[in-house]
Amino acid sequence: MRNRRWALVLLAGVLAFARAARADIDVDVTEELRALPQPPLPQPRWFTLQTPHFELHFYPEEREFAEKAALVAERAYRLITRYLNWEPSGRVSVLLEDQTDGANGGATSVPYNFIYAFGAPPDGMDELSDFDDFVKLLITHEFTHVVHLDTILSWCPRFVDSILGKIYAPNLSQPTWFIEGLAVLMETRHTTAGRLRSSFYDMHLRVPFLEGRALGLDKVSVGYGPLVYPGGSVPYLYGSSLLRYIEDRYGPEKIREISHRYADECIAGGINRVAWQAIGRPYTGPFGTDVWREWSRSMSHRFALQKEEAERRGLTTARRLTFDAPAPRGTGPRPVFFRDGTLVYQRESNEEEPAYVRLNINTGEKESVATAHGGGPAAPTPDGRGLVIQRLAYLPLGWRIGGSAYTSWNDIFYVDLAGGSVRPLTRGYRAHEPDVSPDGTQVVCALADESAR
Ligand SMILES: [Zn+2]
Repeated sequence: MRNRRWALVLLAGVLAFARAARADIDVDVTEELRALPQPPLPQPRWFTLQTPHFELHFYPEEREFAEKAALVAERAYRLITRYLNWEPSGRVSVLLEDQTDGANGGATSVPYNFIYAFGAPPDGMDELSDFDDFVKLLITHEFTHVVHLDTILSWCPRFVDSILGKIYAPNLSQPTWFIEGLAVLMETRHTTAGRLRSSFYDMHLRVPFLEGRALGLDKVSVGYGPLVYPGGSVPYLYGSSLLRYIEDRYGPEKIREISHRYADECIAGGINRVAWQAIGRPYTGPFGTDVWREWSRSMSHRFALQKEEAERRGLTTARRLTFDAPAPRGTGPRPVFFRDGTLVYQRESNEEEPAYVRLNINTGEKESVATAHGGGPAAPTPDGRGLVIQRLAYLPLGWRIGGSAYTSWNDIFYVDLAGGSVRPLTRGYRAHEPDVSPDGTQVVCALADESAR
């Protein structure tokens, strides 16, 4: 198993090229992209790699990714089927795609067991960035969904599915916080990292508890998250923490029992009743003895102790500079100083378009300098006249992959602050997180390939 590695590239002289073109204002970025060398693009001729429990579909450029995914999938099979005491029937289909820089995947059990997985690892400030091996984390997470959602015990769904095909799986109607919480619990339990070990992730739960703004079970149960920050992460964040509490206090077999009891329902529902049968109390109830309140008290105590300890060590005083409401799953402002003391940060709020904003911290004056497409930290040039940023740059594919006719890979761009033009410095490099050398002649950045960066 290969660990995460960092590929670094120096783009010597690119800033000199950018400066030479400073006089051009509002250049057509598409035209500029055409002038850059054409990168190798995926030419999908699909192959299938069969293992005892999986069939992995991939194109030749992804062979290394596919071989690795096959290994970790068989590993996940042994661990997750044992934990949840369920073996899916037949081979699980896994579709591997690497035409995007988004770190993501998906899985379902209807109409058949299916996983899709993107090869790209997350950026440094992503909530997913705590991993030992991103492919292992991704496949372990997604395969948990397959085993959990494929568990069908009641005769009713079995009867319906035998006539109409696999369309009814009771566990699919479990709340999202249980489905995703279980997968986050498994990604943590069966790797040496995962979101439940991430201090960054923990912070997102600690702050609302300390500020008295922790969400209730009603808001956490809103599909894929309420509109308040952190939005779509809410079911993952609260669900995984609650299930780990149940695992720690009542035993791992209770998680399995909840999954099996729910899968044994004729008409899916009654989540409180199922919890009561498995652990002797409901998720929520009127008498204060429910597991949600137990968990909330436990979290409050834990975070209060952490706060006390931090205060004993002495806190660094801070002054708040921005008041933009954070968007759900924002990437964070990532402020960087110019040499003149102003700073540039990434605005991603609910009210305005995502942008890089220059802020004078003495006067509070703000200026939007470039639209942000996809995000990442900005790097000012030492002369203060430009900014190097990463942006999503779409490249047309010869074939559609996963329904997409374009790549959505990141490239590095130069923003001329005087003229306002934005000029691409790379094309198809999958370049991320740029920084500029102190003499302003070179740019360093991370390069992505499938499963590593
Ligand atoms: Zn998931």
